[in-house]
Amino acid sequence: MRRIFAGSITSYSQFGHLKVPKGIRNICPVCKEKVEFVLKSTYQSSKHGLMTESVCPSCKKSVPFVIITRENETQPDVYIYDPQSSTDPTNQIQHIPKIPEELVRAYKSAVSVYLSKENTATAVLAKRVLENVLKNFLGDKAKGMTLDQQFEVLPDHIHLDKAVTSLSPLMKPEGALHKMLELESEMDDEMTELIMDLLEDLIQYLFVLPGKIEMTREQIEKKLN
Ligand SMILES: [Zn+2]
Repeated sequence: MRRIFAGSITSYSQFGHLKVPKGIRNICPVCKEKVEFVLKSTYQSSKHGLMTESVCPSCKKSVPFVIITRENETQPDVYIYDPQSSTDPTNQIQHIPKIPEELVRAYKSAVSVYLSKENTATAVLAKRVLENVLKNFLGDKAKGMTLDQQFEVLPDHIHLDKAVTSLSPLMKPEGALHKMLELESEMDDEMTELIMDLLEDLIQYLFVLPGKIEMTREQIEKKLN
């Protein structure tokens, strides 16, 4: 699911006190064109929201939308179903160019045996995924090392800071983006959306993911004690 921000909503329908989006300008998850979706006004509604769909004017594929309504809020949360932006890595990894095929296969197999509740097979494949992740960064250096040793030396082989430092040139005072952030020039809809994506990515990378890994590790330790 990908969040649709208010800036991409071009028109609304009024349902009681609720404003429901009718026109949405956004990237089609299927053909990647920027198009104008017109949402069907017939909704499958429940207490907490609505599900609807719209046909992409470019590729003619039907795309689902989910609208979450909250009490006392006139503006609902709107999401487009975009498998690539889902937080499920099985959907995401296929579209990221640098992930080794072997790792993708191992992870998919691990998910599939886990879903069939085969715990022994899950253990075997989980180990294979861990080994693959480590091997991706350590290469031949991983040979002859135990998993704990590999994790110990892993930070010397990945540049976790690159994602952050690469943003520095974008923020240069004489740069176009800096001028937009200082309100010296205007941001168009597309740039506003990209900036919101960047904020989300940064927060995920710096706070959400490290926090989640920490919490899972604590839960595993607690379970082992
Ligand atoms: Zn399309």
